[in-house]
Amino acid sequence: MANPLRPAILAAARSPRMKSAITHAPGTRSLVTRFVAGEDRGAALTVARALLASGRSISLDHLGEDTADLGQARATVAEYRALLRELGDLPQARAGEPRPLEVSVKLSALGQALPADGEAIALEHARVLCAAAEAAGVWVTVDAEDHTTTDSTLSIVTTLRADFPWLGAVLQAYLRRTEADCRDLAGPGSRIRLCKGAYREPGSVAYQSAGDVDASYRRCLAILMAGQGYPMVASHDPAMVAAAGDEAVRAGRGPDAFEHQMLYGIREGEQQRLADAGAGMRVYVPYGSQWYAYFMRRLAERPANLAFFVRQLVSR
Ligand code: FAD
Repeated sequence: MANPLRPAILAAARSPRMKSAITHAPGTRSLVTRFVAGEDRGAALTVARALLASGRSISLDHLGEDTADLGQARATVAEYRALLRELGDLPQARAGEPRPLEVSVKLSALGQALPADGEAIALEHARVLCAAAEAAGVWVTVDAEDHTTTDSTLSIVTTLRADFPWLGAVLQAYLRRTEADCRDLAGPGSRIRLCKGAYREPGSVAYQSAGDVDASYRRCLAILMAGQGYPMVASHDPAMVAAAGDEAVRAGRGPDAFEHQMLYGIREGEQQRLADAGAGMRVYVPYGSQWYAYFMRRLAERPANLAFFVRQLVSR
């Protein structure tokens, strides 16, 4: 069921007043731990090791976005470099297999929105991360943010792919442009994560009904599966998980030629079921103290998540 409060919750995700109220509400933190591995790298690595031991792959995300200060962007790069050094000690893939270790990064956390030269700064910061990831045997995927950043983000990814052909990009099925982007980006070696999209977008650029978004997701999935890249199917929706399996069979793809992705704390049983059945299953594991916007997007996705949150607050 679509969440009728989604627009209001996504608006609150951008509101400093709501941020302060919700962050300091009693009990919020214990709920946040349902979706966030912890506030520091050590906690994230503990979760990562357990997931790897269970047969799942990981993508670690250091939470933070919309950085308005160069020092903060540099601190984010330093945190990712430290993370990549530690990830380099974890088990690696055999040659030719999908890498079990990945980091996800938001370009807005690397300075993309800085007033002077933001795009160039984010590009150089992302290049530093890709070089560190290459040395550690880790993949990188660049998250998709709101539609005002899509052109800039895809242009940065395209530039970096000349040196780091394994660099992944994310496409959001709710955007009307995405079917065309899938056609452009389904070339050899291209790693594309397809998700529905988590931001509040106007009807001029994005489908508004769940039915239209799902139909777009299916069309995009068919394009990516029929293409020559490596599709990463990021959805908890049983219908999309099944559609991915069907499209993979139609395209003659084996289990190593695409993967499923889900978020930490969501449909844990289904994650394990897919991994046990031999499918590629990667879990996106966010960590860090800047969890507010990420947490609000998870609340916006499902009435049940919001109801759980409200019940916990009022029962205190
Ligand atoms: P929904 O449409 O939210 O849910 C459909 C159905 O799935 C539900 O009706 C229910 O049957 C089932 N379901 C969903 N949640 C649950 C649950 N908790 N328990 C049981 N059943 C459930 N968005 C971006 O905009 N940019 C990104 O870079 C990005 N990266 C992502 C990376 C990963 C790995 C994933 C999984 C998602 C990412 N997203 C990103 C978020 C994504 O865009 C969606 O907002 C989010 O995944 C919800 O859409 P959905 O496809 O999972 O299904």
